[in-house]
Amino acid sequence: MVTTLTETTYLGMPLEFWFTGPLGIPFHIWSFTMAVTGLIVGSFLNVVIHRMPLGMSVVTPGSHCPKCEYKIPLRLNLPIISWLWLRGKCANCSVSISPRYLAVEAFTGALFLLTWLKFGPTSPGMAWALCLLFAGFIAATFIDVEHLIIPDEITLGGIVVGFLLSVAVPDLQGVASIPESIKASGLGVAVGGGVVYAVLRLGKLLFGRERVPVSPETPVIFHEAGLVLPTGEIPYEEVFYRESDAVTAKARRVELFDRCFSNVPVRLELMRKVPVLRIGEETFEAADQPWMSVETEELVLPREAMGFGDVKFMAAIGAFLGWQATVFSLFASAVIGSVVAIALIAIGRQKWTGRLGYGPYIAVAAMIWVFGGHHFMDQWLSGSVGN
Ligand SMILES: [Zn+2]
Repeated sequence: MVTTLTETTYLGMPLEFWFTGPLGIPFHIWSFTMAVTGLIVGSFLNVVIHRMPLGMSVVTPGSHCPKCEYKIPLRLNLPIISWLWLRGKCANCSVSISPRYLAVEAFTGALFLLTWLKFGPTSPGMAWALCLLFAGFIAATFIDVEHLIIPDEITLGGIVVGFLLSVAVPDLQGVASIPESIKASGLGVAVGGGVVYAVLRLGKLLFGRERVPVSPETPVIFHEAGLVLPTGEIPYEEVFYRESDAVTAKARRVELFDRCFSNVPVRLELMRKVPVLRIGEETFEAADQPWMSVETEELVLPREAMGFGDVKFMAAIGAFLGWQATVFSLFASAVIGSVVAIALIAIGRQKWTGRLGYGPYIAVAAMIWVFGGHHFMDQWLSGSVGN
C-alpha cells in the first residue's frame, strides 16, 4: 500500500487540526472521552427512565437492585461492562436486569461519539449541546413508550436549557450573533409549541373519537377488566391512554348489579387514575360496580395521537434547533409514525399502534434533521421558492 506523504488533510481538515483539538488536546482523545461520557450518561439515563415518571429522586438513593434493594457498589456499576460481567443479573439475588439498561448505555455512547465526529471539528460547543439534547430524547422516548407521558422536567427543562445553550453557542441556531440566536430560539419555542398545539386541536376535532355502532339488541358489557363489544373484548388499558380519555354512550337502558336506568348518558373516565362511572346525574366508583350492561346504538371511544406533553416537547426542540427543525420534525414524525403503524399492522400487532406515544417519532424526526434533514429542507425550499 502506498501512502502519499504530501497528503495534508484528513476528513477535510488540515492534519495539524487533528493533533490540536479543543484546548490543545488531540481531537480523537476528545472522541474517546465523548464515547465514555456517553456510556456514563446512558447509565444515568437508565435511572432517569426508571425513576422520573414515578416521581422519585434521580440522585438519591444510589443505584440499587429493584428486587432485593442491594446497593450496587461502584465497581459493579460500570456501564456495559458490569451488565455483561454479571450476565444481566443482580450480583446479590440474581434477578434479571433488563437488557434495556445495556441498550441505553451502548446507544448513548455511540450517539455521543457520532455527534462529536460530525459536529466536533467545526463547533465543539454545538456537539456538546446536541449531545445534551439527544440525552433528553433518549429519556423522553423510553418514558413515553412505557408511561405515555413526557415529564415536564424534560420538556419544560429542555426549553430553558435549549434557550441558554442557544445564547452560549449561536452555532446551534446556525447564526453568528447572540441577539440573532435569542430570536431564533424564541421563535423555535413559539412555532414548535404552536404547530403541535394546532394539530392537537384539529386532530381532536377530526379524529379525537372513534364511534362504534352497536346493535341495541346486543348490549355492551362493562366488567372489571374491560368492555365486551359484539366484535370482541377490549381491555381498559387499551381504551384509556391518557388522563382525559373517556368512553361515552347515550344509553337506552343501563343495568347495574342492583339498579336500572333508562335513556341516560353514560360516561366512564379516569379521575386521578381511578375509573369513575357517571350515569345520568349520578357518579359511582367503577370498582364498586363490577358489572354493567348498556343498551345503545353507538359507543364513543377515545382516540388520541398526541398529547399536551408533545406540545412542550416540540417547543423544547425549537428552543435548541430553531423553528425550521420543528416544522420538519412535525411532518417527518407523521411519516415515520405511519410507516411504523403499517408495519405493526402487517405483522399482526395493530393493537399496539394506539399504545405508542407520539414523542419517540418526534425525537427520531428531530435527529434526522440534525444529521442531514436540514440540507434536504434547504434544497426543497430553494427549489420551490425558485431563484
Ligand atoms: Zn437483587
